[in-house]
Amino acid sequence: MSRTILVTGGATGIGLAVARHFAAQGDAVVITGRRPAPLEKAAEETGARAVVCDHTDPAALDRLLAELPASIDVLVNNAGGNTDLDDAPGDDLASYARAFRANLDANLLTAALTTKAVEARLAPGGAVVHIGSIAADRGAGSLGAYGAAKAGLTTWNLDLANTLGPRGVTANVVSPGYIEDTEFFRDHLADERRAQLIAQTATGRAGRPEDIAATVAFLASEGARHITGQVIGVNGGAYRTR
Ligand code: NDP
Repeated sequence: MSRTILVTGGATGIGLAVARHFAAQGDAVVITGRRPAPLEKAAEETGARAVVCDHTDPAALDRLLAELPASIDVLVNNAGGNTDLDDAPGDDLASYARAFRANLDANLLTAALTTKAVEARLAPGGAVVHIGSIAADRGAGSLGAYGAAKAGLTTWNLDLANTLGPRGVTANVVSPGYIEDTEFFRDHLADERRAQLIAQTATGRAGRPEDIAATVAFLASEGARHITGQVIGVNGGAYRTR
């Protein structure tokens, strides 16, 4: 049976792999993002419906709601990323506050606002899956705000799971390790650091967006109906210290 799936940030990287996975199953997929060009390209490739939306903006979410069907089976809160990478703060407190808030907004507020917006439309038997990060367990350098935001997602999700549980909707976090074929891995990591991160995995490789998509799809499947309030790491066992 075809389901309705909303994937935030679904035009690129992990979100695109998730959109592809559900579209290939015959589901009706809606993808969002702030930039129209990648969205159009992804929509053409996957057959998903694309809607421009900044998930930190309540007014944009109201506009998105007007475009969505009355019933949504799966919400994938994937939009996010380490905003320090593009916008490092200066020395003054005002720019530190701006940069810190940008990470919290991009990685925690996006998920909370989007879930709040569509909550009433989530169908019984449905699922909410957030994309967290291994940075929640080990930090991510720089401001520390990215890892803190992703850790906050896990705690906030516990309350969400309690709220949605009685309605038959699950809520879980998929926490990726280092995922290749994404802008982060391609453009923001020095070769030496990339090799180090791969050496820390038990599997000896970086993850792929498809690894994350498969786990999201499992959590949204019938077989995962009794799994809620959990964090599932998909990181190749990235805990080797030597
Ligand atoms: P990408 O930058 O390719 O994907 C992020 C997507 O989110 C983009 O399509 C972007 O589109 C969209 N997005 C970001 N902010 C917003 C917003 N405010 N409103 C709407 N859309 C937004 O990176 P990844 O695929 O790597 O990242 C996907 C998720 O996975 C993120 O949450 C990231 O933190 C997490 N992650 C990634 C890891 C990796 O190694 N790559 C590791 C661990 C976690 P646009 O800019 O057009 O809005």
